[in-house]
Amino acid sequence: MSSPRYATSCVERFLEYVKIDTQSREISETYPSTLTQLDLLARLKDELIDLGLEDVTMDSHGYVFATLPSTSAKQDVPVIGFISHVDTSPEMSGAGVKAIIHHNYDGQDIVLPDDPSTVISPKDNPQLARQIGRDVITASGTTLLGADNKAGVAEIMAAAEYLLAHPEIIHGPIRIGFTPDEEVGNGTKYFDVERFGAFCAYTVDGETLGELQMETFSADAITVTFHGFNTHPGFAKGKMVNAIKVAAEFITRLPGEELSPETTGGYEGFVHPYVINAGVEQTSVKLLVRDFVTPGLHEKEQLVKQIASETVDSYPGSSVEFNVEESYRNMKEVLDNYPDVVQNASEAISRAGLDPQILPIRGGTDGSRLSFMGLPTPNIFAGEHNFHSRFEWISTYDMHKAVEVIIELCRVWEEKTPV
Ligand SMILES: [Zn+2]
Repeated sequence: MSSPRYATSCVERFLEYVKIDTQSREISETYPSTLTQLDLLARLKDELIDLGLEDVTMDSHGYVFATLPSTSAKQDVPVIGFISHVDTSPEMSGAGVKAIIHHNYDGQDIVLPDDPSTVISPKDNPQLARQIGRDVITASGTTLLGADNKAGVAEIMAAAEYLLAHPEIIHGPIRIGFTPDEEVGNGTKYFDVERFGAFCAYTVDGETLGELQMETFSADAITVTFHGFNTHPGFAKGKMVNAIKVAAEFITRLPGEELSPETTGGYEGFVHPYVINAGVEQTSVKLLVRDFVTPGLHEKEQLVKQIASETVDSYPGSSVEFNVEESYRNMKEVLDNYPDVVQNASEAISRAGLDPQILPIRGGTDGSRLSFMGLPTPNIFAGEHNFHSRFEWISTYDMHKAVEVIIELCRVWEEKTPV
């Protein structure tokens, strides 16, 4: 596909979308968590209508769905979907984003003008070193860029525009979904899988060129609550049991050299205390538990319980209780039942001239939840790098490759459907 007509559309759209502040918020009484996300979602709805997509809807929660009708004579081509989230991370401001295009990147450090201490260096960014001669887009130093995931949004829009302009490209029915609040873990909260009506979908929210992700962590959150006994410290001898000290001892006993986020990588899981609410009478410790297989997750939970119980045993008068909440599960458990979903994506990446990189995500995606909600959804690259930070960047070359992969993926599904 040498004609890069979709290229202009993709970058131009992206530069417009990043101007809209869509930062989501952890604590909120509304859905979406910030109402500015609806500004972009409403705009996307209008743009999809203008492009000529069908069944374009925006529901009361802000989800925008649309259909790109089939150009195939085959009746049974499965409906596939492409999904991106419009919100940006609560960790870094996304207001007043000034995107800068560094044309014909020369391989040097990129110093961002609004805060010259923000330097994006190819030394720390091996992928940046590969972009010499290409156009690289960054923010200006005081905000994130928002390529996570507005790059995915722009790529899906550009692919839809291209396919509509080229009815000679044969594909089945395609569904498009734009969602809010992914960054705060609520992107699928009101996602109506049935109304979306696809056999499978792809989130376009991955990092590096060629990446395809079908494995995520399986994740739980445990709250371990230690009960002590509080009394006036002047008269506490032989009576007080300090839950703070019990909890501190528990944390000290957790494995440090292994099973910690700071000491693990690849397929290793971990146990991660991240919040403490401390008082003498009662102290609760919240822990994230992660593993790629659910039995491994349960083993780690057992270990946490065992360490907590042993700790309490050495503090007479103290007691402990546990509350385990399921966060999400490794989508591989679902995707293994739908090998075509991953194989076709891998083939599309190859057809775009890239080497498919099938890597696990040490985290979750909306796709992990959607897969368990009945919509198998691996993740394909959007080209975003250093997301959630002022150092965020993306190359237009990678964006165009993502558009190409989306278009190829639509064709692969059609070709593989028997007449
Ligand atoms: Zn994202």
